[in-house]
Amino acid sequence: MIRSVLRITGLTAAGAALVGCGASGSPVSAPTSPPPRPAASATHETAPTMAPGPGGHTPVFMRAAAAEGDAAKTVALTFDADMTADQGPRAERGERFDNPALIETLRTLKVPSTVFMTGRWAEEYPAQAKAIGTDSLFEIANHSYSHHAFSSPCYGLPEIGAKDMLTDVRRAFAAFEKAGARNVVPYFRFPGGCYDDTALRALAPAGVTAVQWDVVSGDAFASDADAVAEQVLGGVRPGSLVVMHCTRSAAPVTQEAVRRIVPELRRRGYRFVKVSELMR
Ligand SMILES: [Zn+2]
Repeated sequence: MIRSVLRITGLTAAGAALVGCGASGSPVSAPTSPPPRPAASATHETAPTMAPGPGGHTPVFMRAAAAEGDAAKTVALTFDADMTADQGPRAERGERFDNPALIETLRTLKVPSTVFMTGRWAEEYPAQAKAIGTDSLFEIANHSYSHHAFSSPCYGLPEIGAKDMLTDVRRAFAAFEKAGARNVVPYFRFPGGCYDDTALRALAPAGVTAVQWDVVSGDAFASDADAVAEQVLGGVRPGSLVVMHCTRSAAPVTQEAVRRIVPELRRRGYRFVKVSELMR
């Protein structure tokens, strides 16, 4: 069954703005009731995608429409594995843009999850990219290669020109493939969630579905796991899509927050799904 996609015009902007990743952008209306179509550029052939929007624009998914009953109480936790193209020197100095303990926690708790990975992250941590991308618990989606802004202003991120957008996205897919990741889905999250019509048009040839969110976890630069957990637990409703981070230096309490969020949402009758299932 295909659920309709909600047209959301007012995302919750609770919590601090996530630098470079995750605050509410200026939502563009999404197409409604999209039929699935074969993934044009996916290595994961079973992942549903949305039909292109008007003018062939890249479609945008934010959350699933709620269906009746507990069986439909699904929620997708998504984790942005951020690393910007110019952060290599910081990684060399010891800054950790990965978060293996978080991934292990998701495995222990058996939480199917979608990791929105930058190509630069996959280059820095190829073994982890492969491990995540060959574990059926996870799917890897595209978070650009460079983590630069696809529309501006966007939390101070350097801007990528329209002519370079498609190349940047394809470069990230190539980095996943080079790392050996196989569970790659044709979804794309704009860095910072920032996009406009120009960006949606520029990415149309990539055949991706853009994925936003309706619940901001506030995990970026947070120091209080309870506050993050409370914000998520207060925001989730059936069909929700939660944005969190898999970048230890910028989101140090995410693992701890997940340990609190997961059992509580299960107690409330929620089932965790990957974005590809949420989109069905
Ligand atoms: Zn990001």
